[in-house]
Amino acid sequence: MEEKGFRVVLDLGYGTLPRLLELLGSVVGDGIDAVVITHRHPDHMIDLHGLFRARWFGRRGAPSIPLYSPPGVLERLATLEEGDAEAVRQVFDWRETPSGRIALGPLHLETWALPHFVPNVGVRLSCADFTLAYTGDTGLDPTLADLGRDADLYIVEATSRDQQPDTPPSPTAKPLLLSAREAGRAATAAGAHRLMLTHFWPGNDREQSRAEAAAEFGGEILLAAEGLVVPLGTQPRADPPRPAHFPR
Ligand SMILES: [Zn+2]
Repeated sequence: MEEKGFRVVLDLGYGTLPRLLELLGSVVGDGIDAVVITHRHPDHMIDLHGLFRARWFGRRGAPSIPLYSPPGVLERLATLEEGDAEAVRQVFDWRETPSGRIALGPLHLETWALPHFVPNVGVRLSCADFTLAYTGDTGLDPTLADLGRDADLYIVEATSRDQQPDTPPSPTAKPLLLSAREAGRAATAAGAHRLMLTHFWPGNDREQSRAEAAAEFGGEILLAAEGLVVPLGTQPRADPPRPAHFPR
């Protein structure tokens, strides 16, 4: 996400680093002002290790990059470096989330703990023109309404692991990932203006996910895709029609 030249990276899952470096036009990751990682699962942070190596070998001694994450992310990085936590701390200046409201360049960062298999922290970034919120991975939780409250763009995970009949059921009694329908419900509860579905279970039909979310959310629904660019703060803000059964 970029605002007034300030660049924040949200999660770095499998294969994201090459695309990020291409966008930056820098093989050593110059131009990143902050990184926010929602949780320590590899599909959300494994390419943080690639970024670490790019900085460690290409920009040693450069100012460290602020890294906002729950505990466990830095430790996982250090494990990939044979336990060299000191090197990791030289590249990334770790600040623990969730925390209070933090000024981040022209933005404000707010964070909420959400239920998942490991500590997961939802992220809300706002400035004068817009608010963007992102769940990371989560089960259904009332906090999702606060996280995405009136957001211009609410990025909600829509794993929908049950969309395909041969997918094994959730290993926990209480599901700790959302369906697309639940993602739509969360966006409606929050009063979000636009919803972006992401974190699709491999092989899922994304248009089916959009249709399921649309049964619960009346606003525009975007499907996350590689290379997708979404303008923020330039959209006319009209309240989306609300399903009658879901009062705000
Ligand atoms: Zn996860």
